[in-house]
Amino acid sequence: GPAVRFEGVTKHYGDTAALAGIDLDIAPGSFVALVGSSGSGKSTLLKTINRLIAPTAGRVFIDGGDVAGEEPHRLRRRIGYVFQNIGLLPHMTVAENIAIGLRIDGRAENGRVAELLEMVDLPADFARRMPDALSGGQRQRVGVARALATEPDLMLMDEPFGALDPVTRDQLGERVRALHDQLGLTTLLVTHDMAEALLIADRVLVMDHGRIAADALPADLIAGK
Ligand code: ADP
Ligand code: ADP
Repeated sequence: GPAVRFEGVTKHYGDTAALAGIDLDIAPGSFVALVGSSGSGKSTLLKTINRLIAPTAGRVFIDGGDVAGEEPHRLRRRIGYVFQNIGLLPHMTVAENIAIGLRIDGRAENGRVAELLEMVDLPADFARRMPDALSGGQRQRVGVARALATEPDLMLMDEPFGALDPVTRDQLGERVRALHDQLGLTTLLVTHDMAEALLIADRVLVMDHGRIAADALPADLIAGK
């Protein structure tokens, strides 16, 4: 996966500084967790990477390229995005939902859906199901499969397991970490669950009022350093 760099990134909403000058380097292929209380700027930081949000000032680079100069559709093809209560299209089957990015690109499905279902540990016959016949955890798995369909090298995950029970959370967390390793992704995961962050990530960033308040290795946080 690519390197991601933030240079002096701020985002203001009126008087609120959602991001108050972020300077940050994410190493290629790393798995970084963003934790911090609600409203600390985690989602905003993530969305400046795939240009769902334009910074008020500062720049975001992927492998040295300023995202502001990238065509949004190209950017979103290389950046997988998974969020809470993933929006599956209700009138489309699981297969059609997973393949939507491929269809937009005019690419043939070519067995890719079956491969993606297997990657997220869902049975092959789920391809024909409708989204309302899935559990919350199964839906989030389909969301991960959809995000991976266009072969991104960067994954942004915003509380992807936030609404799930603890056992399902743990299983999905492990799966996502394994996929990260297998596919050589760079992954940024927003979570309010510090235990999850410590378990999955290589590096934990704690956000507070639009700043990076702490930047540590899980082992050091566990040892209380
Ligand atoms: P987190 O993901 O850590 O919960 P957010 O990035 O969603 O935090 O929000 C950071 C701050 O920016 C909060 O104070 C939030 O209220 C504010 N904010 C986010 N989006 C908007 C918006 N569209 N309009 C106004 N304020 C916003
Ligand atoms: P919010 O934090 O405002 O609730 P979400 O993070 O849930 O917003 O979703 C942001 C929007 O981005 C959604 O409406 C979703 O449809 C859209 N979206 C879905 N996939 C992608 C993608 N790969 N890249 C950019 N935007 C996407």
